[in-house]
Amino acid sequence: MSSAATTDAGRKAVSKYGTDFYFIAQSSQIVPACRVLPINVTDVSETIKIVRETGATFAVKAGGHCPYPSGTNAENGITIDLSRLKDITVSDNRKSVAVGAGCRFGELYQKLEAHGLGCVGGRISSVGVSGLTMGGGISFFSSERGLACDNVISYELVLANGEVLNITKKSLPDLFWGMRGAGITFGIVTRLELKTFDLGEIWGGASAFAHEHETAIFDAFNKFVHTNQDPLAEAFLLVTDMARDGNSVYTMVMSHSNPQSENPPAFDDFKRLTPLFSSTQTRTLKNFCDEMDSQNESGFRYRTTSMSVKCHLSTLRQIAAIHDESVALLKDCAGFVPYLLYQPLLEAMLPKDDVGNALGIKPEDMPLIDISLLWRWTDIQHDKHISQVADQFVEKVEKATRANGTFHRYQYLNYAAGHQDVYGGYGEENRKRLLEISSKYDPDGLMPKLRPGIIQLSGSQKV
Ligand SMILES: Cc1cc2nc3c(=O)[nH]c(=O)nc-3n(C[C@H](O)[C@H](O)[C@H](O)COP(=O)(O)OP(=O)(O)OC[C@H]3O[C@@H](n4cnc5c(N)ncnc54)[C@H](O)[C@@H]3O)c2cc1C
Repeated sequence: MSSAATTDAGRKAVSKYGTDFYFIAQSSQIVPACRVLPINVTDVSETIKIVRETGATFAVKAGGHCPYPSGTNAENGITIDLSRLKDITVSDNRKSVAVGAGCRFGELYQKLEAHGLGCVGGRISSVGVSGLTMGGGISFFSSERGLACDNVISYELVLANGEVLNITKKSLPDLFWGMRGAGITFGIVTRLELKTFDLGEIWGGASAFAHEHETAIFDAFNKFVHTNQDPLAEAFLLVTDMARDGNSVYTMVMSHSNPQSENPPAFDDFKRLTPLFSSTQTRTLKNFCDEMDSQNESGFRYRTTSMSVKCHLSTLRQIAAIHDESVALLKDCAGFVPYLLYQPLLEAMLPKDDVGNALGIKPEDMPLIDISLLWRWTDIQHDKHISQVADQFVEKVEKATRANGTFHRYQYLNYAAGHQDVYGGYGEENRKRLLEISSKYDPDGLMPKLRPGIIQLSGSQKV
């Protein structure tokens, strides 16, 4: 990594979604020996063979939002950048779309919009289709249609030996199951075929509430998670304390995928409160995701982490209090901005087919809340201290939630820190099954050796 501090001016030099785009500054600072930009599956297969022969290490980049640096760029190794795999083909019967692994959701939604269609995918435009989908994928449609990983019909995958597989539920059922949550570990996916559905305009936006509404927001959020009966309504909560004075702002991101009015009743409890601002309106999915994109600035230094807890009001509030304490320790870090996310994982989001998925979440565990940190800052000198405080936050939340019985082992891969044992969080039975699948398709165990930068099935630690 470069030793240069990331300044705000330096941050702005990061290009907007070019091949060198990475969401986190730490990834942009890694210097690979070589960057390969394949234009088709044959290029990817040939590249893997060369990597193997040379004994180099590699990393794969799709949309570039990986929350930890080594996951998506290979220091002194080969970075395989999929950004030229951009084909998007809607099927003749309009029920599916084949997407190149380098596409971002904004591009996909725009194309689907022209056909009156949507798909289960990311909530911001710049996020990559393949990274988000293979890690799980929480969407504006997940209560009705499940996670993104459970809405894939087929994958084109290049194995460590260069062989290309077409994976469907019928052709390779074991691998098809494993792809749902651990797809990035088996090889390089070059194309995904996703289910589509008819979609017109949706209702949605973000409403921000001042600190005085803290109690009411947590009450309303907890009630929404436990009692909402409308599968078309989705909401998640984002807490931030920009001034770090203990006066957090609470932002509800709300959506309804078939709005009959500007006021979907599912959100009545939030609408009783007066927001500082609100962007809720009826609009296209792409328009909504573009707005969300503009709220999530790339190029800062970031630290994330993911945990999950059973949804209990007192736990949700306790976590916010632990977060306040942690953030107070970082008051001297210039440019530090903390975001704490509460993302519901509901029983309705579990796969409805006979395949299941690798995530290891059971109906009786629900509702869960994914608790993710998205902390950002500008100066490299604060990296160590901020990471230590983030780790202490995790320890404190784990201790508190184990003590009150609301702890859950699941960690969401797509927001996890590089050293979290995500696949252990899927449950030991699922980890064992995933390891068996991995050794069947990669008998020499090449993938973990050639691609050491990603979170490994075995749980070996990354930095
Ligand atoms: C601002 C922001 C908004 C987000 N919004 C959402 C959201 O709405 N819902 C949600 O569920 N998550 C969301 N996430 C989390 C997101 O799902 C993850 O960051 C995800 O890893 C992004 O995928 P990517 O393709 O953009 O990233 P990349 O960094 O390109 O990929 C992520 C990881 O997957 C691997 N990978 C990617 N593609 C392939 C492939 N084709 N073959 C093999 N390995 C591959 C990469 O090597 C890397 O390790 C968000 C993250 C951010 C930063």
